[in-house]
Amino acid sequence: MIIRPMIIKVSDIPDEGLTIERAALADAPFSDPAWRLDGLSLRLERDRLDVLAQGEIRATVPQMCGRCLEPFGARVTAGVDVRVVPRPATGDIVELAPDDLDVEFYEKDELDLNVLVETETTLALPMKPLCREDCLGLCPVCGGNRNVVTCGCRDRAPDPRLAVLKDLAARRSR
Ligand SMILES: [Zn+2]
Ligand SMILES: [Zn+2]
Repeated sequence: MIIRPMIIKVSDIPDEGLTIERAALADAPFSDPAWRLDGLSLRLERDRLDVLAQGEIRATVPQMCGRCLEPFGARVTAGVDVRVVPRPATGDIVELAPDDLDVEFYEKDELDLNVLVETETTLALPMKPLCREDCLGLCPVCGGNRNVVTCGCRDRAPDPRLAVLKDLAARRSR
């Protein structure tokens, strides 16, 4: 699969703004072909040299469940509200308005939409991915996936430290 850059010329963005829908993007906006773009709606507006990008990206991204360690496709919805500014010369300081949460850069009048989509999607990935809200995770005793197997293990392995304390208590009471 060939990944085509999706370049928007900043100077080409009309005064009334530009709306970009899913169909306008290449099949593979992500550098990882396993990532899938499910939906996209972006609005680009120029603010002098800056570009304000707002909208939503929906994607399915392979993740590993934090509880059962199984791979699954995480559905990600990224709300986009980002100011894309010309990349400053090295050493320059970019002055940001206080309400700007996200800032990205473009170079030479070219805004790479694929990069924007990938960055925003990455930022929206879950910190602790779960294959499902009620994932039962792995059994701490036998390591079995409790979503798949019902093992006969007790809920918790006996804590060896607790066993030592009980032993001490038993000796003292003698
Ligand atoms: Zn899981
Ligand atoms: Zn078990």
